[in-house]
Amino acid sequence: MKNAVITGGTRGIGLACARKFAENGYNVTVIYKSSDDAANRLKSEYGISAVKCDVSDPNKVKEAFRHIREYSGSTDILVNNAGISYFGLLSDMTDAEWKNLIDTNLSSCFYTCREVIPGMVSAKSGRIINIGSVWGKLGASCEAAYSAAKAGISGLTMALSKELGPSGITVNCVLPGVIETDMNSNLSEDALKELAENTPLMRLGTPDDVAETVLFLASEKASFITGELIGVGGGFPF
Ligand code: NDP
Repeated sequence: MKNAVITGGTRGIGLACARKFAENGYNVTVIYKSSDDAANRLKSEYGISAVKCDVSDPNKVKEAFRHIREYSGSTDILVNNAGISYFGLLSDMTDAEWKNLIDTNLSSCFYTCREVIPGMVSAKSGRIINIGSVWGKLGASCEAAYSAAKAGISGLTMALSKELGPSGITVNCVLPGVIETDMNSNLSEDALKELAENTPLMRLGTPDDVAETVLFLASEKASFITGELIGVGGGFPF
């Protein structure tokens, strides 16, 4: 049974990935920050292990992976999904807000990759799937830090795919469009309706839409795909 570790697996896209991986025979561990109830439900309903760890803290990530290695061995599939958004003018952002956004969304991918790469290199196989964003490609007004972090994830993906390809490890990035999760719960119904209308496929995405692509990238069927930035956005933004 392959071991999959999914960060931010207690809600939204990460939760959909965790369930899908468990249903498809993977041994799944999720990392989360504070949703203890959701973590307990994952354990009781799906047999999914959950480790509480703030991925923006390199020491906590080290400790979490030490624990994961002890109880389930090395990681075969890493899904870097944990993330937060920030909406506002860049000029209003404080140093602490910038640092938290970049550490949570981007540096976290470095911390987790650093933990799993040695085991994958020894095994001469492995899958790293990062969750970026269409904003990392196009940029969004009032989401400059978020767009910068997500562009960083795209760059990290492309570079790591070259570094790790000779070791049989694939690294890809999924770029969701607008997906119905808590991250967008601050948007009004009208704003969400307008976003759906501006999407060529005329609807918002679901966490499952993204999870299906992540599951595919983890599978044998995707063994010759690496370094790719794959949009799952119904054509948004066009
Ligand atoms: P949600 O807000 O629904 O869930 C976020 C998840 O990340 C939760 O499980 C949360 O844990 C976890 N998390 C947040 N901060 C930390 C942290 N510091 N340490 C550990 N875990 C953390 O987000 P989405 O499902 O919407 O987003 C998932 C990913 O997809 C993100 O990277 C996001 O940027 C990206 N994305 C989302 C889009 C969308 O429209 N929703 C569009 C494009 C990209 P807890 O439950 O404990 O708080």
